[in-house]
Amino acid sequence: MSDCIFCKIIAGEIPSKKLYEDDEMLVFHDIKPVAPVHFLAVPKKHINSLLELEEADAPLIGRLLHKAQEIAKQQGCEEKGGRFIINAKSDGGQTVNHLHVHFLGGRALGIRIC
Ligand code: 5GP
Ligand code: ZN
Repeated sequence: MSDCIFCKIIAGEIPSKKLYEDDEMLVFHDIKPVAPVHFLAVPKKHINSLLELEEADAPLIGRLLHKAQEIAKQQGCEEKGGRFIINAKSDGGQTVNHLHVHFLGGRALGIRIC
């Protein structure tokens, strides 16, 4: 989508600090980290939100989650873990309407969600 920030990052029109890339996904550091480790995993296919996920794209999101946990471990969070977050639509606090998984780690996050 032409006005989507993450599509522009995927296209290389906006720079990002990449952690991983292949044909179907990109993993990069969040521009405003809220934890010592804070990255985003996004499918290259533009999907507005998890609430718009079609069944045919379920395997893609499975692979995205698998890669996200791999990168979380590479970032030193295997032992203590962290939090995988998918915000969806306005009540979920989604600000970029391109499906993405946050990973937060490197500090104790407590039970508060935001
Ligand atoms: P949401 O609130 O939609 O779940 O999360 C969007 C995330 O994207 C936010 O944490 C925000 O900091 C991050 N973000 C927004 N614009 C950019 C950008 O241009 N580059 C990067 N690396 N992250 C961005
Ligand atoms: Zn997009």
